[in-house]
Amino acid sequence: MEATLASPSSLTSLPFRTNASFGSPSLLFRSPLSSVSMTTTTARGNVAVAAAATSTEALRKGIAEFYNETSGLWEDIWGDHMHHGFYDPDSSVQLSDSGHREAQIRMIEESLRFAGVTDEEEEKKIKKVVDVGCGIGGSSRYLASKFGAECIGITLSPVQAKRATDLAAAQSLSHKVSFQVADALDQPFEDGKFDLVWSMESGEHMPDKAKFVKELVRVGAPGGRIIIVTWCHRNLSTGEKALQPWEQNILDKICKTFYLPAWCSTDDYVKLLQSHSLQDIKCADWSENVAPFWPAVIRTALTWNGLVSLLRSGMKSIKGALTMPLMIEGYKKGVIKFGIITCQKPL
Ligand code: SAH
Repeated sequence: MEATLASPSSLTSLPFRTNASFGSPSLLFRSPLSSVSMTTTTARGNVAVAAAATSTEALRKGIAEFYNETSGLWEDIWGDHMHHGFYDPDSSVQLSDSGHREAQIRMIEESLRFAGVTDEEEEKKIKKVVDVGCGIGGSSRYLASKFGAECIGITLSPVQAKRATDLAAAQSLSHKVSFQVADALDQPFEDGKFDLVWSMESGEHMPDKAKFVKELVRVGAPGGRIIIVTWCHRNLSTGEKALQPWEQNILDKICKTFYLPAWCSTDDYVKLLQSHSLQDIKCADWSENVAPFWPAVIRTALTWNGLVSLLRSGMKSIKGALTMPLMIEGYKKGVIKFGIITCQKPL
């Protein structure tokens, strides 16, 4: 399988970049400057393995700290869904509208619909859900309530897991919903457990996309659905080996603030899913539908309350806020794509 990774030179600039790997070991530890691949069989390869392990650990730690620090601020201003809203293209939702929260709920509903969960018959089949990268559990509680299902959410952030647990208790959902600190790349669940495997805007944090997809597929039950909604870079055209340097530059800056490793495209996700026995693999580009989101977040941050909360929250939040315009630029210039990729495990 061809892997479409970030340009090798850019891989040096980020402490966390262990490369997204796409199943080919030789692509895992690509030498940043020379593009020469190292294998695990040589002494240098072993060094590379150790370096990759360290940087993966650093990434995990960075993600946990980032969400430990910023989740309270996000919740104060935006509520319990830490994901984009889904809007009709060209709609202009004003700040005073409750439209943004509705748009975030709509994102969940549109994702389910896209994946084929469209009627009561399908809904009834969903008894167990895993929310991979659950934030403070907005999707978990919503899905558990909607389907009357049991839902387990996993996150790297202990602060998020605690807050998600408290919110579930406050909403009398503790018997249905639970949360734990666990790694999406090594999930503490047996094979075939979940009828719905849900990953809402967590895939972009995963340093090894092949392993991520493999875990999602592993924990999915026969007949279960997998839904990945995630930030991607644009698909590369035929013959194109990497993004343009200016495009990569935008992504690199976003990576540093938001604790992201190398990005991949929806095409890459589709290829990864195709390497497993899955059916009904589908993807779509919803970039137009999320366009009003970041401008709205910036407007909120610039209110008095927003600024005060931001300053109180700390450096990670401030850096995050300063990076938001780059998200808008990335979408506008077509390098960032908001992708949904879904499929079903055969019965
Ligand atoms: N899905 C949530 C939160 C999105 S924020 C929502 O829609 O509200 C991204 C989430 O992914 C955070 O909770 C973060 O801890 C989680 N995450 C990132 N990398 C992870 C990993 N390797 N394992 C588990 N969770 C991870």
